Amino acid sequence: MITRIDHLGIAVKSIDEALPYYEKALGLRCEHREEVVSQKVRTAFFSAGEVHLELLEPTSPESPIAKFLEKNPSGGIHHIAFATSDITGQLKQAGDTGVKLLHEVPFEGAAGKLVAFLHPKSTFGVLTEFCAPKAH
Ligand code: ZN
Repeated sequence: MITRIDHLGIAVKSIDEALPYYEKALGLRCEHREEVVSQKVRTAFFSAGEVHLELLEPTSPESPIAKFLEKNPSGGIHHIAFATSDITGQLKQAGDTGVKLLHEVPFEGAAGKLVAFLHPKSTFGVLTEFCAPKAH
């Protein structure tokens, strides 16, 4: 079951350049920074109430975020992430209704969460992520 919007993923050329906007202009606090090697990105997390913002900076030209920035040079909203209590069930439900999955099997994303993405061609143009706390 989807329980809430967990975060919005926002592509930026440089987290260091974007930080003053989020910290000083908006007054949000950066809570966590992490490099996700598997996705070739550096991330920085902010909280806006219950919803997080995930800034994404590419660490390689092959990063999906680098490709996004080629098409959107100013940066912008890259994906929406729904928190789910059952990521495997959520993927199955989407797949069973004909939605193309970018990942059949969840993988470990930032902050130790399990994540998987749906293909934007199947989601009316919105790159969609499911995320769930990692099972122990
Ligand atoms: Zn995300």
